[in-house]
Amino acid sequence: QTLGSVHLGTVIEEALLLARPRARKAGVEVRLLGDIDTMMVSGGRVRLGQVFVNLVNNAVDAIGERDGGLVEIRARRDEGVVIVEVSDNGPGIPEATLQHIFDPFFTTKATGEGIGIGLSIVDNIVRDFGGKVSARNGETGGAVFRVELLEAEIGA
Ligand code: ADP
Ligand code: MG
Repeated sequence: QTLGSVHLGTVIEEALLLARPRARKAGVEVRLLGDIDTMMVSGGRVRLGQVFVNLVNNAVDAIGERDGGLVEIRARRDEGVVIVEVSDNGPGIPEATLQHIFDPFFTTKATGEGIGIGLSIVDNIVRDFGGKVSARNGETGGAVFRVELLEAEIGA
């Protein structure tokens, strides 16, 4: 498979175009940190966009009715890869959930509110492009999803 390459900034901006209205409705602020405009990654624009839409939507769901909801998307480069972390100040992920979070049809949401395929799709997409994704709890609570993508050469 030939992997195209895409500007991370384009991917994230398109994802936020889709995810922000829902976040705003829930009173959640979405912040972008890091110099994403200079970063190129291996992958397709639309599928990578889906990754970040899913992660931001999940974060908004997890924050729920909490005041001061905040989702931060932070990107950095590290030896041939680009690491994008999506973190939130929601309740975090219980240990028992962490083990199954990327399994197809695993959900903790009520019937009709989630069918549990979002993160399995995220995992599939990221793997298809040679990357990986993992979940953990942040130091101040809240969930952190770490997406590692292959850095692409500009013009490749
Ligand atoms: P769905 O959103 O339909 O439940 P997902 O595969 O997107 O399915 O997510 C699976 C489960 O992972 C969620 O039901 C939730 O329990 C947990 N989860 C995902 N994102 C977060 C998050 N940011 N904070 C806490 N739990 C999360
Ligand atoms: Mg989801």
